[in-house]
Amino acid sequence: MTILRRTFLRTSMAVAAATSLAPSTLQAALPADPPAPDYRFDPWIEVEREALAANVAEVRRLTTGRPILAVVKNNAYGLGLVTAARVLASFPEVAGFAVVKMESAFALREAGITKPVHLMALFPRSAAADLARHDIQPCLYSDDALDLVEPMTQVLGAPVPAQVYLDTGMSRMGVPYHRALPWIASLAQSGKVSLQGAFMGFTEEPDFDREQLKRFLAVAEQASKNGLALGTLHAASSSAVFEFPEAHLNMVRPGMALYGGYPNDPLKQRNAAPLRCTVRLKARVVRVQRLRAGDSVSYGRNYVARQPTWVATLPAGHTDGYPRRAVGKARVLIGDRAYPVIGAVSASHTIVEVGAEQTVRVGDVATLMGPDVPEIDPNTLTVETGVSVYDLFMHLNPTLPRVLV
Ligand SMILES: *Cc1c(COP(=O)(O)O)cnc(C)c1O
Repeated sequence: MTILRRTFLRTSMAVAAATSLAPSTLQAALPADPPAPDYRFDPWIEVEREALAANVAEVRRLTTGRPILAVVKNNAYGLGLVTAARVLASFPEVAGFAVVKMESAFALREAGITKPVHLMALFPRSAAADLARHDIQPCLYSDDALDLVEPMTQVLGAPVPAQVYLDTGMSRMGVPYHRALPWIASLAQSGKVSLQGAFMGFTEEPDFDREQLKRFLAVAEQASKNGLALGTLHAASSSAVFEFPEAHLNMVRPGMALYGGYPNDPLKQRNAAPLRCTVRLKARVVRVQRLRAGDSVSYGRNYVARQPTWVATLPAGHTDGYPRRAVGKARVLIGDRAYPVIGAVSASHTIVEVGAEQTVRVGDVATLMGPDVPEIDPNTLTVETGVSVYDLFMHLNPTLPRVLV
C-alpha cells in the first residue's frame, strides 16, 4: 500500500506540473523525484534529453549558427512544457522561448526558467503588470497597443521591451504589413516601447513564402530608413528552417523540428537532417488472450480472426494521443518486435495481434510511439496513417506523467 500511495503521489505531482497547476514547491520536487513507471500499467511519456540535444544541433547546423527561439507552445508539442523547457534552457544555442498562451509564459517563469520568454499572443490589459513583473516579453500588433503596455511601463519605470508581430499574408495575427509603418512609428515615438524585434509567420506555400519575406523585409528597410530600428528579425518556423535559408534572418523560431518531427516532407527532409523523435508513448500490456477462428476484436468487429491467434491489450488509446487511424497501418513495439494494431483504437485501449505464438506477457512494456524502430516513429506514423505529425505530438495527453530519460 505504501508503494502504491507513493507512486500515486509522485504521479499526481508530475501531472500537476505538466498541466502547470502545481504550486512551485511541487514542481521543484519533480526532478529529484520522478514518477516511477516500474509500478504502473497506465501509459506514461518519456522525454529523451539526448534527442533534444541532437535536434537542437541539427537546427543549428541547418541555419548556420542562428540563435534559436524555441517554440514550446501547446505543452511543448506534447513533451510537457516544464520538462522540455528545462532541458532546452540548458543549451546555449537556445536563446529563449516562445509561447502562444499567456498561462504557459507564467508557467515557464514559475518553473524557474530565466531565459527570455516571448508571448506571441494578445493579453488582457489587466494582466500586463504581471507580465512585466515576470519579465515576459509581449508581442504587439493591435491599434490599442500603447494602452495595453501602459501598466507595464508603470512596473518597469522604463519603456517596455517588446516585439512587433507583422501580418505578411497569413491573415491570422499581426498588424497588416501595408499599414505597419505609421503604427510602428507611433510606438517608437511614444517613449513607452523599446522595440526588441519584429517577426512574422509563413503560410508554407513556397512561392507565396517568398512574397511574404519580401513584404517583411520591405517594412524593415523602410523603418530603418525612417530611423526606426526594429531589432531582431525572425520568421522561420521548422518548415523554413529546412526549405527557405533566405528566411533564417537574425534568429529562427522552430518548434516541431526540435522535438523530432519533420514539418512537411519526412522522406525528403530526413536527407537534409536526421532528426530524432524525443518522446515515447509507453504502457504495459494488461491482457494477453488467444482467439479462436471467428472471434472478433473491439468495437465494430472490424477484425475477425481467420485462424487461432494471440492478441494483446494495451491500456492506452486515442485519449492518450494514439491515433484512431493507426488500425491496420501502424505497429506497436513490445520487446524487440513490432506488432500490428487491429480492431479499433478506443479511448483507453489499443489491441495488437501477436500471432500464432504467445510472445507477449502481461506486464511487458509496449511503446506505441517513439524513436526505437522506424515502425513506431511519428514520422513514419504520419505517412502511414495520414495523421499530421503535429497532431501526433501535440495530442499526447497532457495529464500523463512525463519522465525525463
Ligand atoms: C507554432 C509556431 C511556430 C513553430 O512552428 P513549427 O512548424 O512547429 O516549427 C513558429 N511561429 C509561430 C508564430 C507559431 O505559431
